[in-house]
Amino acid sequence: MIIAIDGPSGSGKSSVSKAVARRLGIGFLDTGAMYRALTWWCLEQGVDLEDRDAVAAAASGMPLAQGSDPVNPTVLMDGVDISAAIRTTAVTTAVTAVATNPQVRPVLQRRQREAMAAIARSTGGVVAEGRDITTVVAPDADVRVLLTASEEARLRRRSTELHGAADAGSVAATRDQIVMRDAADATVAQFTVAADGVTTVDTSDLDFDGSVAAVLAVVRATAGSHP
Ligand code: C5P
Repeated sequence: MIIAIDGPSGSGKSSVSKAVARRLGIGFLDTGAMYRALTWWCLEQGVDLEDRDAVAAAASGMPLAQGSDPVNPTVLMDGVDISAAIRTTAVTTAVTAVATNPQVRPVLQRRQREAMAAIARSTGGVVAEGRDITTVVAPDADVRVLLTASEEARLRRRSTELHGAADAGSVAATRDQIVMRDAADATVAQFTVAADGVTTVDTSDLDFDGSVAAVLAVVRATAGSHP
């Protein structure tokens, strides 16, 4: 079973996707981690992020290996575990320049399709999450979900994640990063309105378990209609 999940930052996409994969006993692919890994690799190798050709060449040549276990989805570059390094503010700030490079996207999209096929072959299925999985990478997926949440709910969650609190000051500090990144990402991928055949799951008023249950309900409904 191929499950594609898209959504903006703070929608719960990543944690919900991992939990869904775990519940179904299938593999997991975080496509955002690929854009982050490429950004980290370019910074590490001294590749100018404004040099589109050089970044696209790095996208096809980088020695990236991702683990598909949803309990521990490792990200290795040339054998080195960079799972934590790709979550730093330096990478988060720079990733937009890489993700909006039109020469990079087809390269990573192809690597994502290959990774999804390999994971599905070895585990019987895959949950792939990102911004353009339901629309560009895997429009033929068995189940396609757009996970959304109000801006307020998304800021609250990310603020708690990043600063351990969701008071006014922490939310304000989070706002710039989240809102600006989503706006830039929206120029290259459409993830705010569900495309035809994609089911929207709004998690604004759902807790984590409720969000997982809502996505599993979509999976069951789809599987029921395509036995
Ligand atoms: O989901 P995450 O925040 O880790 O994604 C990091 C960045 O990767 C996003 O801000 C976006 O620029 C890019 N991305 C993308 N297409 C995807 C997944 C992520 O452009 N399918």
